[in-house]
Amino acid sequence: MDSNRGIGMQMMDRKREQEDIESEQNLWLEDISNVDDFRSSQDDLIPSTSASSIADSEESCSSQVFNSQSSISHQRKIKKLTKRKISKHRRLGQYKSLNTLEERKRLRKITASRLRKAKCTANTVERFRYWKEKIDREFDPVLEETKMRVEKLRQENEALRAAKEQVYGRFESLERDARQLRMLAEARQATVMQSLLSLIHRQIEQFEDEDETYVYIPDEEISFKSAKWFCITIHSLFDLTIADLLNVYKERRLGEKLDGPKLRKRLGKSLEQLKRHDPSVEVADKPTQTLFVGNSSVMCGVSLEELEEIFTVYDGNCQFIVYPNKRTYSFVQFSSVEQSQKACDELNGYISPVLKTSHLPFVIAYIDNLPQESTAPEFRPKDLEIIDDFVNEETEQAILDVIYSNPKAQSMKHRAVVHYGHAFDYGSNAAFKPTDPIPDLFDKLIDRFIQEGYIKERPDQITANIYKPGDGIPSHYDTHSAFENEIISLSLCSDVVMDFKDGANSATIAPVLLKGRSLCIIKGESRYRWKHGIVNRNNDVDPRSNRVVARKLRVSLTFRKIRTQPCQCSYKEFCDWDREGEMCIPSTANAALKLEQTYVADVYENIAAHFNETRHSNWRAVQNFINSLPRYSVLYDVGCGNGKYLAPKDDLIKIGCDMCMGLCKIAAGKNTNVVRADALHLPFHSAADAVICIAVLHHMSSFERRQTVIQEILRVLKPGGRACLTVWSMDQSDSEYSNMRKNKEESNELCELTREAKRLRIHDGKQFTQQDLFVPWVSDEKETHLRYYHIFRDGELEELLGGIDGCQLESITREQGNYVVIFKKI
Ligand SMILES: [Zn+2]
Repeated sequence: MDSNRGIGMQMMDRKREQEDIESEQNLWLEDISNVDDFRSSQDDLIPSTSASSIADSEESCSSQVFNSQSSISHQRKIKKLTKRKISKHRRLGQYKSLNTLEERKRLRKITASRLRKAKCTANTVERFRYWKEKIDREFDPVLEETKMRVEKLRQENEALRAAKEQVYGRFESLERDARQLRMLAEARQATVMQSLLSLIHRQIEQFEDEDETYVYIPDEEISFKSAKWFCITIHSLFDLTIADLLNVYKERRLGEKLDGPKLRKRLGKSLEQLKRHDPSVEVADKPTQTLFVGNSSVMCGVSLEELEEIFTVYDGNCQFIVYPNKRTYSFVQFSSVEQSQKACDELNGYISPVLKTSHLPFVIAYIDNLPQESTAPEFRPKDLEIIDDFVNEETEQAILDVIYSNPKAQSMKHRAVVHYGHAFDYGSNAAFKPTDPIPDLFDKLIDRFIQEGYIKERPDQITANIYKPGDGIPSHYDTHSAFENEIISLSLCSDVVMDFKDGANSATIAPVLLKGRSLCIIKGESRYRWKHGIVNRNNDVDPRSNRVVARKLRVSLTFRKIRTQPCQCSYKEFCDWDREGEMCIPSTANAALKLEQTYVADVYENIAAHFNETRHSNWRAVQNFINSLPRYSVLYDVGCGNGKYLAPKDDLIKIGCDMCMGLCKIAAGKNTNVVRADALHLPFHSAADAVICIAVLHHMSSFERRQTVIQEILRVLKPGGRACLTVWSMDQSDSEYSNMRKNKEESNELCELTREAKRLRIHDGKQFTQQDLFVPWVSDEKETHLRYYHIFRDGELEELLGGIDGCQLESITREQGNYVVIFKKI
């Protein structure tokens, strides 16, 4: 409402203004006569009606003036009157006329502005016209040209489309050709493969017929020594796996039966082997109860289980004599000649489908007698004693009654266990708590052990184990710290073979037959150094007769004395007792020196001759380093061993040193320059152009000593001189050594037993389980020596060399489980 009122007010104001303008115009008409524009606008402004709305007393008068302008005097009169009127107005404070003047100025301004705008518009039109003309003039030719180019492109496009269609057509025809060729090639390949396979089968048969002979394939410059090599070669030449080859071959042959001259030839060869290994065995002319079976041993890939499956068909109670190694044959003893005859007739020359790995035919002959039992003493761990028939059957039964009367039979994973005297804690392998007292009968047995001189100390802990047939016990040491030296075990009911494994080399296994009612006394070396265990299986092979013996339920009674004082055994490397830190990774300079003296220096003195026999081939990287040296370079070989890098005659001046007197003598015997010296205190001046230090640094048992060796090498080098050094690496995956250990156990049991992290352990597994350890050396007299090694991990050499002034690392490479580092003195 306010705004409406405002608008109304504004309109009234405007009306008043207009009235003012009209009166003013009447007064100043002549003054504005020269302004055309204004005249026209004034016409608009003058109302057609006389100013009736103006409530002015002078109204009639002004009308009069307007209508009679011809009279000048009248005009003057009017002017005068008007002036007076104005002055009157002024006096009255009415400034209408002044406002009108300002308004006229404003109107004039507006008009001028409109005029300017009109002129401007005219200019713009002119400009547009100019540009249009210019564009018409200049653009037309471009347009024309563009039109022509478009036309040209269109034509080109047309041509390209035609070409494309042509190419597509060609492509399709080529693809068709390619498809046909591929099909042809596949068909051809299938034919080639077929002939290749038949060739392979032919060759394998030939190998089997002619052992150890070379076979040549026509048109191929390849010779093969055995079927295996043939397959490996074929494998590398063609995209066929050996398993594929052998499987195809095997599938074809399983169930096959050889006869005639081929079978006779094979049997003849097998019997030759029999004659060589077991000359006492007589081949019979006519059927007997016992068969010689060629191609039936573990060596041929035939297991005892397979043999049993094949032969028990003819006689459920037949006896087997098998060999773990060195023989390709076995013997089978039947209850009757008829049974053996039937087996011979059916199985001679037969490749049984039961066989899983072997695909060789059994070759069978009748024999008069079995091989004589070996009279050579069994291979047994030192200090192990076996007493057969220690108790009679009556006592055996009495002992069993006592054991079975105990309701506390504690069920374990594989075997039932009853403890007397003290219970053994299998969790900690050490703690004991008193349990059922030792029965009188067992006390009497203990009296006998002492009286008969088998043991000196009276056992106070007895464990009865009940093994079901097939059950065994993992290979283990009886913890040194838990029990005293003497451990005695009485076997009851069934025979069993216990395997003793050398703790320094688990590949050395002594199978020992523990007969029912026999006593086994484990002490000294067999107790402290050897592990013992029983394999889980249903049969054992008697190590003396090689006869297969079925296991029955077996009970063993083990007598031990709990240790209360620290173990002081002389097998301290195998001992789980602390041994006053002697078996720990050295933490003092003195301990390091002592460790290296015992487990490096002394060992090398002992094994020098045997070590020399085994060290001939040179490391490729080291040889390359030596070859890279300029003529007449001075080369020091720090830890030269048997002098294998010093001996070859070349243009270098070579001087070697070693701590081991035995090796120094051997090296000197090869007409080389050798001095006995310690790598930590080299007796040389800074004169060497090059230094090699092969397999030495890993015998240093502390970081400081390893650092000192590097510093010594740098000291004896001339500035700019280079050194090549090798050490063992934790990762042996690329080494021959790892290949040699592939049959080793995965983990090191000693590690688990000793538990202490800082403990030096004997390396026995496949991989190195810790950086500081003992690596066994088995001498030619089968004595095991333990050498200390610090095995380097990845990045350790960089750390070691990086911390030494004046040492510039050139390269670190790997060769057969070794790091080969080359560095420079700067
Ligand atoms: Zn011990």
